[in-house]
Parts: sequence; C-alpha cells; structure tokens
Amino acid sequence: MHKLLNKFVSLASKTDKKNGNSRHLDTIISAMADLMYLVDKEGNFLEVYADNKKHLLPAPKKVLLRTSIPNVFDAQSSERLMHMIQVVMKTKSLQSGEFALTLPLGVRYFEKKVIPLESKKDQSETVMIISRDITEKKQQEADARLIETVFQEASGGMLIEDKEGNIIHANNTIGRMLGLPSSQLIGKNFDYLSTMITQEIKDAMDKAMMTKGHWQGEVEISPSNSKKISSWLTINTILDDQKEPNHILIMITDISETSKVNNKMDYLASYDTLTDLPNRAYLFEQLKQSIATMQQQKRNGMLLFIDIDHFKEFNDNYGHQIGDEVLLSVSKQIKSICRKEDVLGRLSGDEFLLISENVNDQHAVETIIEKIQTIFKKPQKIGNLSLHISVSMGVALYPEHGQTPETLINAADQAMYSVKKQGRNNHAFYTEEMSFISNEYYFILNTLKDAIYDSNFTLVYQPLFFLEDMSLSGIEVLLRCNHSRLSDIPISRIISMAEETGLMPKITHLLLDMVCNQLHLWQLAKIKLPEVSINLSQKELHEGNLILTIHSHLSQYNIDPHDIELEITENALLQENVIVKENITRLQKLGHTFSIDDYGTGFSSLSNIKTFNFDKLKIDKSFISNLSTNESDQVIVSATIEMAKKLGLKVVAEGVETKEQAKLLKSFNCDIVQGFFYSKPLNTADIEKLLLQKQVLH
Ligand code: C2E
Ligand code: CA
Ligand code: CA
Repeated sequence: MHKLLNKFVSLASKTDKKNGNSRHLDTIISAMADLMYLVDKEGNFLEVYADNKKHLLPAPKKVLLRTSIPNVFDAQSSERLMHMIQVVMKTKSLQSGEFALTLPLGVRYFEKKVIPLESKKDQSETVMIISRDITEKKQQEADARLIETVFQEASGGMLIEDKEGNIIHANNTIGRMLGLPSSQLIGKNFDYLSTMITQEIKDAMDKAMMTKGHWQGEVEISPSNSKKISSWLTINTILDDQKEPNHILIMITDISETSKVNNKMDYLASYDTLTDLPNRAYLFEQLKQSIATMQQQKRNGMLLFIDIDHFKEFNDNYGHQIGDEVLLSVSKQIKSICRKEDVLGRLSGDEFLLISENVNDQHAVETIIEKIQTIFKKPQKIGNLSLHISVSMGVALYPEHGQTPETLINAADQAMYSVKKQGRNNHAFYTEEMSFISNEYYFILNTLKDAIYDSNFTLVYQPLFFLEDMSLSGIEVLLRCNHSRLSDIPISRIISMAEETGLMPKITHLLLDMVCNQLHLWQLAKIKLPEVSINLSQKELHEGNLILTIHSHLSQYNIDPHDIELEITENALLQENVIVKENITRLQKLGHTFSIDDYGTGFSSLSNIKTFNFDKLKIDKSFISNLSTNESDQVIVSATIEMAKKLGLKVVAEGVETKEQAKLLKSFNCDIVQGFFYSKPLNTADIEKLLLQKQVLH
C-alpha cells in the first residue's frame, strides 16, 4: 500500500508538471472514494486529491495548499491529527482514527489513515492522509442502535419470527411480560407462546394470517411463571423486496390498566355509585332482556316500582349525608330479601325498580311486597338516628300490564303514584283507570308549567270581618290560575301538584310579586289597608331561603312586614323541624303575624301551637258547614274558641255560608268570620270598592 501510494504521488507530481495525464490519477483516487492529503510534518498541505469530493474539503483546494492542518480543523481534531502525524513519522507505521469535522456543509464523520511517505523533492518527511467519509455508516450505526433500543425497551412486547416460525428477535419487554429473559425466547417457535392463549383465538389468528397476512385482537395471555395479562396482540407479515413473506412481527401490548379504566367506565355507565345497584340505563337493558326471556319461555314477571315516602324531608331535616344513608339502607335491605335472579336497581333519586322474572301469580307478588313492608315496620337505624321510613310501591305485571320496558315502567310508576295519592306507605297493582288518571295528571302538570312560564295567574281577595261590629278585619289573598284549561281545577289541587313537583317556589315568587305590587299601588292611591294575609304552603316553610324570598319582594315595594299576616296549616308544625321553627320565629321578629289555617283538619294539637306566639286560629270550614245541625260540631267549635282565647289567640271561623252559622258563632264569642255569607273572594276592582267604603259593612 505504501509503495503503491508512493508511486501515485510521484506519478502525480510528474503529471502535474507536464500538466498532462493528471485526470487518470484523479479518476483512480475518486474511485477509491477517499480524499487524500499530502502533508509535511508541520501539517502543511503539500497536495490535495479531491476531484469530485471537493464538498468534503474543509476549505477550497487552493486555500488548503497555502495553509496547514491547525488552520483548517478545529483545535481538538487538528491536535489529534498532528499527534498522529508525529507518531507516523517516528514509527513509520500507519495510524488511523475517526474524526467529526465541521465542514461548510455541516458535521461529517471521517476515518483518517495517516501513512508515512518520503518526499524525494526536499528530503523532508511527508505523510499521506487518506480521509474517508463515514458519515452515512455512522448514521446507520446510530439508527441501528436507536432501533435496537426502541425495540428492546418499547412499551409493548415484540417478537420477530422467521419464515419457519422461529423467534429470531425478542425484546426485553416481552421478557418482562412473560417473566423470563428475552434471550430464552430466541429459537423457540411461536407455538410456545400460543400455549398461553386460548384455542379459539389461535384458530382466529391462523385463519387471518393465512388469508390476510395480519391479525389483531384482545388476548388474555396466561404465562406459566407470571400473572395473567390482558393484551392487545398485533401480528403482521413483513415482506421482502420481492414482496414475498419474509418475517412475522408480533407485538403484544399490556392493556390491563386500560381494561381497568374501561371496566371502571363500564361500571360508571351501568351502576349507581351510591348504592352499587344497576342504574336507570342498565335497568332498562335488564328489563329488555328479561322481557325477551319471559316471552321466549312463556313466563310471567313482575316489575315493582318502589318510592321512599317523604324522602325530601330526610334531606331537608337532616342533611344530604343522612339522605344518602337512607337510600343506602333502603337499597341494602330490599336487596337482602330479593332472590338471586331478581334485579334491583336505582331508577333515580329515591325511586327503585325490582325486576322479578319468575312470578307466576298474585300471591307470589304479595309475598315479595310483604317482605319489603316488614323491613319498614320498625324504625331504621341511620347514623345515630332512629327513623321511620316507609315506601310506596306500584306493581306492573308482565305480560298483562305491558310488554316493553317503557310500558311496564310507566304502569308500575302509575300504580306507585296512586299509592302516593292515597296516603303512601302501601302498594297497588296497576289498573287501566290509573293510566287515565295519570294522563290527566301529566296534562295538568304541563299546562301548569305553561301557566307559570306565562305568569298566567291573578289574585282574588276575600274579606274577613269582626263579628262584633262587622268592620273589616282583613283580606285573605287567594291565588287563581287564568289558564283556560286550568280554570276549572281547584287552586288547592294546583298548589299541591306544584308542591309535589317542585314548582311551588316559582309560584310563590309570582304570587309575592303580584301581592306586593298591588299593595304598593293601593298605598300610592292612599287606600287604607286592613291586615292582608297570604297563605304559605307546608313545603315553603321548609325552604331555607323563605325569609329572603319574602323580604326581597316586600322591600322592593316598600311593604311593612307588620301589614302581612302569614297563614300556615297546623300540619306544617307536625314534625319538629329546625328550619320551620327558625323560619317562623325569624319572620315573627321581622313583624309578621301568623295564623293557623284549617284548624281541626290536622293534628289539632293546641299545645303544639302554644309553643309559638301565633295570633289567630282559623277553624276549618268543615266544622262550620254543619254547625247549625251537628251538635258535636257545635261542641268542638265552642270549646276550640274558648281554649284558643285562653291561649291568647283570636279565632276566625272559615266558610261561614248561612245566617244561622253566623248567629251560633256569635254566641260562641268567635272574633272573626270569613265566608260566602259575607263575601266571596273578590277581584281587584271589587275589593278596592270595598276598601273604599270606609271598611265597615252592616
Ligand atoms: P284556604 O287557605 O282555607 O282558603 C280558603 C278557601 O275557602 C278558599 O278557597 C275560599 O274560596 C274558600 N271559601 C271561603 N269562604 C267559603 C265558604 O263560605 N264556603 C266554601 N265552600 N268555601 C269558602 P280557594 O281559593 O279555592 O283556596 C283553596 C285553598 O287553596 C286555600 O284554602 C289554600 O289552602 C290554597 N290556596 C289558595 N291560594 C293560595 C296561595 O296563594 N298560596 C297557597 N300556598 N295556598 C293557597
Ligand atoms: Ca287560608
Ligand atoms: Ca282555611
């Protein structure tokens, strides 16, 4: 090699001189794919052979020939190269090394060989540097290293098989997954792996590989010395240049965590998190399946709609935590009496559904219902409390009451609703009549929503008179709905419907706004007003923001609370309730007076009433209507008047319709009367006339 080079160099110098055959030499050198530098011991470039590889030179040939290595290479590279040159000159042996050089076209890698030469020209020592561009090779090596690292540490396990099905590459990940060093897999057949998967999947894989050349799917792998893996397996055929199958790449991704998340999501989509019972969507699916099974096997079934009575009160009185515990306790206990094949789920809020597929007669249904009722006969321990919980249940039977999930749920719901209407804590079987009633109910409810939306209400005012001199003692504000389809429905029914469906707060807002607006107008017109009483429904007293609701309206219209009496029914006081008590006492402190409405229809506990500082007691009209003929009513009414007076309450008799009733009431010393005998509820114009008649009626 040295000799050959020496020949080249001498030939080159000769041809250079003659400027003749140099192209031959350049061609030979370029064919060697190298750059060649002839340098002296100071590193001066004596000759540069580059030909068509000029772009790999650190500087143009002309420049190089006038300079030396330390001037063109970076300090570190030139130092190394100069050192190599010294060593070569001293030892007369070849030296080589790799260099990363920054050229005008970027960083390139070179393998440089320094070969000793003797220049005959000036007897000084020279060396030949053969510089080979190895950038591509380096890049390939780096790529290969990268690919190897990626292959080994990929998040999924990877195997490469040859045509015969022998594993030729296996990465570290698959080793970790299967609990063995990946090297142990090399040389094994894929069949080794397939012992860990089911025959069914194996068959599917084989078929797909034969027909399509690839397969993917979820596979449960059960390695002998590691835990089960939920995995996603992908098998692909790798083709060679001739498009012939060459290798097979198998990728296994551990999806255990993903499956856990999916399972959790499936759970959330199907179950109620509080009670762990199937939720509405899942119940619906279950019912659909049950119906299909029952239809196929010609069996009868039952759907039980269970609703906790007065559930809202548990929430209102004891807070949501206790409310949740009530739901949990009820669900657990009902579940405990269910048969294995029954499905109990939570439909929403305090509503549960029980699907029972194999119920052949009414007796079987009654047995289930009795079991549920027995649970609730004794008080339930909820936290530190002992609560009386009851449920209303509606039964729909398959197939007679419905043959689709919707119709069955609807029928059971209507049956449950009829129980609620008749006083709760009971059960009922669906009848067609219920459907009619409930259709009517929903029609009214919808119309009511329209009426609220359109503020389609007005007020009427019924005057109350002192029996003693027939002077006007007050006016009671009564609500009327103007909607043509609701005008025939008693307002008391509309109000109880609004209470049941949570619409009452909206109505209260409308009512307060209308009352205050009207009172304000009368004040502006300087019309002297007697006491004005407004009815508060039972549920409103449980509202935490009742005071704010009332007072935001009063202050907006500058109305004095002393002018407004609030009527509440005695049933509102039945349950010892902190919010109710607080609402009443705070409203009293603000100046409102209170009267007990419909007295006698509820719990009739004067002692209960005594604890509050009420102003009036209104004896219900049911005691007045037969007063002239019914002696016991006379006794009740006269005794009530006497007792109420002793407690410092004024007494109002409601629903006075006849002269006789009025006379008797006078003889019992009743203070105030209200009834059609004196005046029906009047519209605004008529009550205004009455107010202007100096408030005395004779
Ligand atoms: P209530 O508070 O006992 O109102 C008195 C009811 O007795 C009124 O019925 C009135 O028209 C009726 N009435 C008065 N005198 C006689 C009479 O001599 N004979 C007969 N048979 N009835 C008489 P209305 O207006 O239909 O109201 C019924 C119930 O609806 C009210 O009973 C009250 O509980 C409720 N209500 C009415 N307006 C409102 C309201 O603005 N808010 C609330 N929360 N409830 C209201
Ligand atoms: Ca009233
Ligand atoms: Ca009343």
